[in-house]
Amino acid sequence: MAGEFELIARYFTRPSPRADVVLGVGDDCALLAVPPGQLLAVSLDTLVAGVHFPLDTAPADIAAKAVAVNLSDLAAMGAEPAWMTLGLTLPEADEAWLDAFARGLFEALDAHGVALVGGDTTRGPLALSLQAHGFVPPGLALTRAGAQAGDLVYVSGSPGDAGLGLAIALGRHAAAPAHADYLLSRLNRPTPRVALGLALCGHATAAIDVSDGLSQDLGHVLAASQVGAELDLDALPLSQALRAEAGEDEAIRLALGAGDDYELLFTAPAGSEAAIAELSARLQLPLTAIGRIHAEPGLSLLRHGRPHAAAAAGYRHF
Ligand code: ADP
Ligand code: MG
Repeated sequence: MAGEFELIARYFTRPSPRADVVLGVGDDCALLAVPPGQLLAVSLDTLVAGVHFPLDTAPADIAAKAVAVNLSDLAAMGAEPAWMTLGLTLPEADEAWLDAFARGLFEALDAHGVALVGGDTTRGPLALSLQAHGFVPPGLALTRAGAQAGDLVYVSGSPGDAGLGLAIALGRHAAAPAHADYLLSRLNRPTPRVALGLALCGHATAAIDVSDGLSQDLGHVLAASQVGAELDLDALPLSQALRAEAGEDEAIRLALGAGDDYELLFTAPAGSEAAIAELSARLQLPLTAIGRIHAEPGLSLLRHGRPHAAAAAGYRHF
């Protein structure tokens, strides 16, 4: 069996696709050139087998998802992705697994022009941590703290799909084959909204990516911004597949409470509707107004014009 250093050399060492990587994998540290005048945006995510993905998930899907989850955080900050480091814990040096994993990893990185610049490889229960590094001009980052009373609340794409995809992956829901393919791809191959995040700089007042459920993640924005919001559940952009498979009530519950969608939730001032619609057309990505920020703290939900009690709690690890 190959040792750790051969594994790193064989699977994780490639010529850097970026000129700002002065020194990549193979030394004690990577040496990286941050563009003058930009801030470095850094975010770490860990995926544990059996917690963040089912144990039998295909290795290329695990890699692609780990990259997407990381890039999603940069997107939610309005940062341009540049580099990643990888902490990989493996139960054994399974070369077929590593080969498929590394292919999936570099394919996902290449799609966004990101270089793998270092990491750590250890033995233990399957888990991976990826740390993403990106750039954002000072003052332009999309924090959670800028939402203002009167702003509209928007969400990209169609939240809830990944939640039902997980039920399908776990054998808890049997879906029509065409719907199952789509919903599983939304779970296993989420699309990080990188171009949206960059384009929202200067338009959005606050942003977060939806990883733990829309209502919980919106709650983080409300707390950081010290405001409240009202959501119109009838406006939620539920996908046709989700509606057909889950029915409307369950679809709404999944959209509010299930994690893993990696859509962007953002706020923008009233009056920016035309600019957001233009952006949506340019990116070919639905951007839907689903509520409004108000000064009083708390989140209220409306359905058919009436207050709606939410059962959705959002995913909590502890
Ligand atoms: P050290 O003991 O000095 O930390 P390591 O043996 O952990 O060195 O790593 C050797 C080199 O390989 C370092 O440049 C490190 O960043 C890189 N590396 C280790 N594991 C990975 C990995 N899974 N992916 C990418 N680079 C890795
Ligand atoms: Mg090390």
